[in-house]
Amino acid sequence: VVAGGGAHVVAFPFPAQGHIAPMVQLSKTLASYGIAITFIIATPHLASVRALVEDSFEGHGKIQIICFEIPPQYVNTDMHNFYDLMFYLPKNKHEVFAEIVQKLMAPQDVTAFNHHQPSPISHSSSSTIGSFWFSSPVCIISDMLLGWTQDTATKFKIPRYCLYTCAARSLSMIWHATNWVAQGLIPMPLDAAKPLQIPGFPPLSPIDLPEVYLQGNEMKFPPQRLVDYAKKHKEATGEPPGCLFWCSYQVANDALNVFLKLFVPTIFTIGPLLLTHNNKLEESKVDGIDNDCLQFLNQQPRSSVLYICFGTVFVLPTQQLNELAMGLETSGVRFLWVIRIPKGEDGNLAPEIATLIPKGFMERTKDKGLVYTSWAPQAQILAHPATGGFLTHCGWNSIMESISMGVPMITWPLYADQMLNGRFCVDVLNIAIAVDKKFKEIVGRKEVERVVQLLMQDATSNIVRKNARELKKVVRNANEPGGSSRKSLDLFVDDLNAMTLLKKLNCL
Ligand code: UDP
Repeated sequence: VVAGGGAHVVAFPFPAQGHIAPMVQLSKTLASYGIAITFIIATPHLASVRALVEDSFEGHGKIQIICFEIPPQYVNTDMHNFYDLMFYLPKNKHEVFAEIVQKLMAPQDVTAFNHHQPSPISHSSSSTIGSFWFSSPVCIISDMLLGWTQDTATKFKIPRYCLYTCAARSLSMIWHATNWVAQGLIPMPLDAAKPLQIPGFPPLSPIDLPEVYLQGNEMKFPPQRLVDYAKKHKEATGEPPGCLFWCSYQVANDALNVFLKLFVPTIFTIGPLLLTHNNKLEESKVDGIDNDCLQFLNQQPRSSVLYICFGTVFVLPTQQLNELAMGLETSGVRFLWVIRIPKGEDGNLAPEIATLIPKGFMERTKDKGLVYTSWAPQAQILAHPATGGFLTHCGWNSIMESISMGVPMITWPLYADQMLNGRFCVDVLNIAIAVDKKFKEIVGRKEVERVVQLLMQDATSNIVRKNARELKKVVRNANEPGGSSRKSLDLFVDDLNAMTLLKKLNCL
């Protein structure tokens, strides 16, 4: 790797936690290679970006954050406007982004730069923007859902790389949607007997598909819109120069080999960056940290605790919270349960947690469990020696984090690509067992008890546990020098530095 090539990169995530976090991880990793980053984000997300950047990372000086205003309706990403948010951000936001990039592209004056040394971590609003970096950016890295940033890149004649933050297989599935719609297979009846087939995949039944692929959903998401969505996805991910996938090659090779390699010009498999040299989470580091979750884990026997979290977007209905609580209690298994509190009737006030779960539950389970309603340090929880299982909604970040720490899972997918991710963990990687769940039906307490005991106490799950430990070794090796993710990252950094050099020589 050419160190200190002076490359400067623009990073622009989709504004949802599960997309922001990988972009921050990537930025921190690139900064540790000596690359300067301008991270662009809407104002409401500034605090969370700053926290993520500062967390266990000392190279802040290489990352500057620029924020812009965004209307409130685009901040609270509930499922109703999520699809609209993806490719259809208000047009004027495209212009704001273009304006920021344009300012960054303006050649900087060396003297001015010297007078504006960055503080360890700095941010400016788009109106007061002045680049802290001497060089103009050599490329844009933007999220898989922000394909329109390609127009900005074309306008300013710089390459745009896509960061694909979900499973590579989910991209294959989206790209196949066009054909399936043409063949009349989509929208699929809920009781369809014939599964969809993609080479290299297990057969996909209706239960494995995102809601928008199913019959009954056409009013909200008609087939033509799915085709349009797939087309935009293809443009967003398949355009040169290439796409960075949030996984290690060993985890995604079937999807990449069978399909994506045909269409994506260059593929970099760079995950999980959680494990890169600048960001290592080791079990020994976990002790003594001042957080209720970690303190609770410190008191528990090795591999005894089931960690439960359904991600950052979805809020479980109260009835489901109740059934889950009852099943947990009767299972007798130790647990650490992160609950996102639903909004109150007026849309604002959050109800008390005690009103959402069975009366007396916390008191009765206090020796065995912890209910936590704030932001939990998930990666550290998964790295903790007391954590023995993860009941997850199958968001891709959660899965990669669990794999990285060798923690076997109970899959409880809720929407979008999560069903596919769950199938993958259960049927392909064999590192998880599935909760028995039909579409949006409430999972009853008996099923909760069954699946929790099966993973945490039954000898038949030893194989799943062993496979999870083995896979952890594989992804960790991928991140070591010579491993596939490290090589991919090194190649990407080489590309950035080579482009910077060519630019300096006026060859680009
Ligand atoms: N997360 C966390 N603490 C929490 C809840 C979530 O650190 O209390 C992190 C988790 O580690 C993961 C991300 O938020 O990195 C959630 O992303 P994922 O793709 O799993 O799910 P999403 O929220 O996008 O549905």
